[in-house]
Amino acid sequence: MLVSAGTRLFCFVLCLAVTCCPPSSSAWSQPGSRTVAATTEQDEERAWQARPEDLRRALPNNSAPPQRRVPFTQLPPLTSQEEGTIRRVRLPGDLKAVALTFDLCELATVTTGYDADVINFLRREHIPATLFMGGKWMRTHAERAKQLMAEPGFEIGNHAWSHGNFGIMDQQSMRDQALWTQTEYETLREDILRRAEAAGMPAPNMPPVPELFRLPYGRCSDQALTLLARLGLRVIQWDVVAETMADNSRPELAVDVARRVRPGSILLFHANRVPTGTASLLKGVVRELRRKGYHFVTAGTLLALGEPLSTRDGYFNKPGDNKALDARFGVDGTGRRASMHRKMD
Ligand SMILES: [Zn+2]
Repeated sequence: MLVSAGTRLFCFVLCLAVTCCPPSSSAWSQPGSRTVAATTEQDEERAWQARPEDLRRALPNNSAPPQRRVPFTQLPPLTSQEEGTIRRVRLPGDLKAVALTFDLCELATVTTGYDADVINFLRREHIPATLFMGGKWMRTHAERAKQLMAEPGFEIGNHAWSHGNFGIMDQQSMRDQALWTQTEYETLREDILRRAEAAGMPAPNMPPVPELFRLPYGRCSDQALTLLARLGLRVIQWDVVAETMADNSRPELAVDVARRVRPGSILLFHANRVPTGTASLLKGVVRELRRKGYHFVTAGTLLALGEPLSTRDGYFNKPGDNKALDARFGVDGTGRRASMHRKMD
């Protein structure tokens, strides 16, 4: 009860955001993991430390669309079997893998932030994770986004441009939310590769565009799922909501989260400083899950390990529990008073 009540509260404020994994674990020590702006290990560590501009609302807001709006790389469409929203993966045998996922949400009307404690814990512990970045968040937090993209333990997913609600948006707006984010990723990727070349450093291994998508608010529609499938984006939701709007550092919460995890689970966290106490909760959850014999993989790796279990409905804990959010966060979930294709406010 504690968790479902907390989760409901959380939704209102939030969405303003293995033995089986040797490739992911070993990826942390591969060449190219160094942020290309850093030339020494000390510089590198300094670059990952928390900074004042990581705080919520510290960076100036810019609600304009990106300069380039169509990505160079178009993904092949998904098959009809792949269309849908994946909540967890059925794993073979006694494989105990789970995916930790972190959203970096940002509405059109505000800038959020970056949680260095969360990211640095994952790096220190060599825990692979999937980071779903909003396209506008990537532009606002460009240096942080590039660091994360170049870090081999992290998989980057698309979390829409400005947190548009895919349960209520029109086709063109949904398309823009998805593709503008792909384009922003490409722009930052080009910059990373340029900087690496100029510094004579190896190019980080980054896919041309993200291949996974997370629905803001978990909201979707048949039209949204069909559109995302046409764009080649696999939709990854979750079966375990980790944070609440209460104090997430309470030790009993980590135990409760771990109790709800099963092999093949996908856990939802945030790394944009919207919920508080995420780093503390994450450390507790990781400790509990390791004690139970779980290993951590990216969402992409998890999909490849078993049979993805999908639905055509997006939700937090039970179907329909996020529909109340349609009436909040502006006319289309982005916080705007007018939709994306009317005058930008
Ligand atoms: Zn979000």
